[in-house]
This record gives sequence, structure tokens and C-alpha cells, in this order.
Amino acid sequence: MTTLPLLSSNPATRTGAGVGRAVAVPRHLADLDLAGRRHAVAALGEKEFRAGQLSNHYFGRLVRDPAEMTDIPAAARDRLAAELLPRLLTPVKELSCDGGTTRKTLWRLHDGAQVESVLMGYRDRVTVCVSSQAGCGMGCPFCATGQGGLTRNLSTAEIVDQVVWFAGEAAKGMGPDCPARLSHVVFMGMGEPLANYNRVLDAVRRLITPAPEGLGLSQRHITVSTVGLVPAIERLAAEDLALTLALSLHAPDDDLRDELVPVNQRWKVAEVLESAWSYAARTGRRVSIEYALIRDVNDQPWRADLLGRLLAGKLAHVNLIPLNPTPGSRWDASPKPVEREFLRRVRAAGVAATVRDTRGREIDGACGQLAASQNGPQLPGNELSRVSGRGRKAEQ
Ligand code: SF4
Repeated sequence: MTTLPLLSSNPATRTGAGVGRAVAVPRHLADLDLAGRRHAVAALGEKEFRAGQLSNHYFGRLVRDPAEMTDIPAAARDRLAAELLPRLLTPVKELSCDGGTTRKTLWRLHDGAQVESVLMGYRDRVTVCVSSQAGCGMGCPFCATGQGGLTRNLSTAEIVDQVVWFAGEAAKGMGPDCPARLSHVVFMGMGEPLANYNRVLDAVRRLITPAPEGLGLSQRHITVSTVGLVPAIERLAAEDLALTLALSLHAPDDDLRDELVPVNQRWKVAEVLESAWSYAARTGRRVSIEYALIRDVNDQPWRADLLGRLLAGKLAHVNLIPLNPTPGSRWDASPKPVEREFLRRVRAAGVAATVRDTRGREIDGACGQLAASQNGPQLPGNELSRVSGRGRKAEQ
């Protein structure tokens, strides 16, 4: 695996300080492919086919309570569940709004680290936004998660379990206007997914493989976002997957992007866009360009024009994201007339662009905001806005 750079300069965050000593994440069946699960089951002295039964309960029936696995003998089921279905996520706080069609959960992991996921129900689909890391080392100054630094990468199963949990919730029904089936996954919660490349890709494979091995979602319904780790984008393009790539651009010029998205100091706008176009060419998938509009920072008409020129003729769609400011923050959302003018100018260049919906704001909808509000206002650098450009779904 390519070692990707992490920009956190806070050594405490890199060692996971505040969450105790590093403890291995318990093994879970979602960490393994079906062959690996058969091997693990056999090593426990059970018949290999039990791996398929256990997997079918977890991925196919969305059941994790051993008492409901009545096709497995009671003695074996408790042991298998203890060894291969350990509890990875404990809900700490659950909030909902929009009549229950937007639901956010703050999870505590086995070592005390915390991550968030958001479930969003629409007329035509149900989307879950998942975290790939506890914290984030990318250091974007306008993001709550970025201010806390990186605690650790999530395991494959910790990522998958967020999706499977919410698939179970979606199956119970989110309301009369939402399908009762989770269909879309966006990697736009806490963390930079491509900085946890192998585990994220393993998780994607579990999500797209049919039951009992996996959840059987469509590749096209999975969006992986990145701030622009160019070697990882190139690697993703070569995976032969039809995932949607969302690039968090936030500025069309290097001067500003160096500040807003510090990884730009390593891979400049031209280089990161080039890798995005290569991804689009290789996969045939339209790249989603994420742009959080910040008042008087990146919302000037000339930047809209420049963005339009950079993207014109490319397989791209711009998501303009109204910033979700925190009281006292120096970052603020662009006024609506400015937002409208920005949108108009990007479209005038022939580029598809929309303003992302703002559902979930009252429950701290952007990534890192729930953890920030749960942990109080003492996050390092938290005089900055508790806002992320990547906490909401990509409109596809
Ligand atoms: S915006 Fe995303 S990449 Fe940047 S610090 Fe926040 S979570 Fe990390």
C-alpha cells in the first residue's frame, strides 16, 4: 500500500491520545471475504458452511442478534457471533430531523474514538454518509474534523458496519415517501477516504458483492470523496470499479486552495484536476466537484469564472455547498445573491452545477459537527468554523 501523507502536525492526534492506548480493532466477519470467513469458522472448530449462514444473517437479512439465527445450533451461534460479529459501533447520540428522513448517529468505537454517520431518505433513494477515519489529518481550516486531527483509520468492518446498521434502519422504513431499502453510500463523513485506501476499498468490495458475501449495492451508487490525493486517485481509477469520485476543490486557484485545502501544497489544482479527468476517462463516471461557498473567501465572481473555465467541456458536475457556520466563527456562508451569481457564472461556462440541499443543519449535519458539539467547544483551533464541505451527500 502506498503510504499517503497525513498533514496533522499534532503528535497527540497521530498516537490516538485521548482515546487510550492503541488497541487492535476486534476481528469481524466484514473484515474478511467469504473464503476468509470459512477459514475463520473452521479454525473455531465449526463447519465451514456456518460462515455462509452467519454472513447471510448479517448482510442478507441485516440481522446481528444471535437469537434470531435459528438455523445455527444455539451453542455454535453464540460462539460464532462472539468471534465474528463483535459489537464495533455503540451509538452515543442519535438525532433526527426532516420528519425522521435525516438521521445522524455519533458512534463510540471499541477504543473510545468517535465517528459519525448520517442517513438521508429521499423519494427515490436512501443514502448513508459514512466515516472512514476517526478524525482527519488533512487539516482543512474550515472543518471541525480537521481541527481535531487524525485519531486513527477505521477498520474495514467499522466502515461496513455503519452501512449495514443503517441498511437495517432503512429497511424498517423512514417514512411513506422513502424507499425501504438503502441504495446509496457516500464516503463523505469524517476522514479522508483515500488516506485509508486499502480498508476503504475492501469495504467497497463488501458493499458491492451480493449476499451472503456482501450487501449487493450498485457500484454506481457509491461515491468516494477526496481532497485530492493524486496517486490514490490514479490507483482508484485502475481498480476497474464504477464508483463516483467527488473531488473537494473549494478553490480554483492555488493561492487560496493552498490555505483552504492544505494538501494542495503537495498536489496543485492543475494536477489534481488532471487526475480527476483521467479517472472520468477511465471509468466513464462524471466527477463531482465539491465547492463550499465561504463568504468573501472563495465566492468572488472571478473565481466562479475561473472554475467554469477549468471545468468547461469536462465530465464534471459542480456541487456548491452553502457553508454551515458556527456562532463566533470567522467563516460564514455566502449570501444567497452571491451564491446565485456564482452558480449562474459556472453554468454560463457550460458546466453542470447545482446548490446542494441543506437538510440536517439543525442536527449539525456537516462532518465532524456532531462530535464537535458532543465534545464541547474545546477542539483545537475551534475558533474556526465547525463546518465541512463534505458532510452532505453528492447529488448524482
Ligand atoms: S474537510 Fe474532509 S478532508 Fe478536510 S479536514 Fe475535514 S474531514 Fe478532513
